[in-house]
Amino acid sequence: MKNIDLHTKDQQYYLPTFKRIPLTFVKGKGSKLWDIENKEYTDMLAGIAVNNVGHCHPKVVEAIQDQAAELMHISNFFVSPAQVALSELLVKISGMDRIFFTNSGAESVEGAIKIARRYAHSKGRGGKIISMENSFHGRTLATIATGQPKYQEGFGPMPSGFIQVPFNDLEALKKEVNQDVTAIILEPIQGEGGIIPAEKPYLQAVKQLCEEEDIVLIFDEIQSGIGRTGYWFAKDLYGVQPDIMTLAKGLGGGMPIGAFLCNEKIAGSIQYGDHGTTFGGNPMATAASLATLKVIVEENLRQAAKEKGNWLKENLQALQKKFQIIQDIRGEGLMLGIVLSVPAIEIMQKLLKAGFITNATAGNVLRLVPPLNIEQKALENFLTAFELVLIQHEKENNEQ
Ligand SMILES: *Cc1c(COP(=O)(O)O)cnc(C)c1O
Repeated sequence: MKNIDLHTKDQQYYLPTFKRIPLTFVKGKGSKLWDIENKEYTDMLAGIAVNNVGHCHPKVVEAIQDQAAELMHISNFFVSPAQVALSELLVKISGMDRIFFTNSGAESVEGAIKIARRYAHSKGRGGKIISMENSFHGRTLATIATGQPKYQEGFGPMPSGFIQVPFNDLEALKKEVNQDVTAIILEPIQGEGGIIPAEKPYLQAVKQLCEEEDIVLIFDEIQSGIGRTGYWFAKDLYGVQPDIMTLAKGLGGGMPIGAFLCNEKIAGSIQYGDHGTTFGGNPMATAASLATLKVIVEENLRQAAKEKGNWLKENLQALQKKFQIIQDIRGEGLMLGIVLSVPAIEIMQKLLKAGFITNATAGNVLRLVPPLNIEQKALENFLTAFELVLIQHEKENNEQ
């Protein structure tokens, strides 16, 4: 079937939730993607920070193929070798004590909220959750209640017990803290909200506040985790340990899998039957995840994310000096945001025509979250293409 026919059918059948870009992808390898017309693209988005080891990494493909031929699913009534191995590995690299597997980011956040409330209730505290303005924690009902008002419109009544405060504002946070508050949830680096990092003293002060007040600190590392910032998790960049941490996106190298981890303090309030899942952490998903994490270790991809990220950031900052439409470059490692003075979608579309996949978020931010193993050459080519797009954009604007 031709691209245009597929697009037409898609428009007819798929619930119109995503405004699709009329491109059909059929193949991927490393940082490259090919559309149905065999045009090659460089992927600077990685399926929204998912393909951290690139598309179809041979080790991940092999792990999935082998596991599919052996055993795909058994339910969590039983033990599976891949899940045990992955649990042990994630607990060790995170410094947390316990893990629970889910199928997505939003589900991980839902679970995190549930166990945080369970802990608070065991201490006789209220159930309120404080989240940050401009945050993103998913699209289920509880996770939209934590997030931006635009995602809540028309979906009321919202679940109760959620309060929002401005990000990076300690005084605003302190004003809301009392015995009714269970937990504070935040992204150490806001992703969807436009790649906005927490300030280090702020995050350290939030941690201290949580300890003093016995409030559960939840870090949503669904986008910032799994090597993205040059560290296993962004918490390591800040040197702040949360009580609960959520993961998904890059965790499965493309397979849908999420998780939340917690410390023994939280785990102590959980009893058999308190939470559950049918698919979460099944042999297929955990085998893929285990292979993905091994690739990150074997290929030194945290180091790569740090070095390539720094190199890319410096070169983007050099472009910022040349082009007025670039207002700021934010982020860490290979989680970067280019803040523009124009809608980012205009630049995103021009880059797409030139064969580079990026993403516009928060209106004027161009988000770059490429595979951690993207080649230096691909980054150089991206910079060249980006500069040409900026020149072209300037020219068009001068003509108007
Ligand atoms: C993407 C994202 C989510 C939601 O993940 P889904 O898998 O789409 O449910 C939650 N939190 C953060 C920080 C994210 O980036």
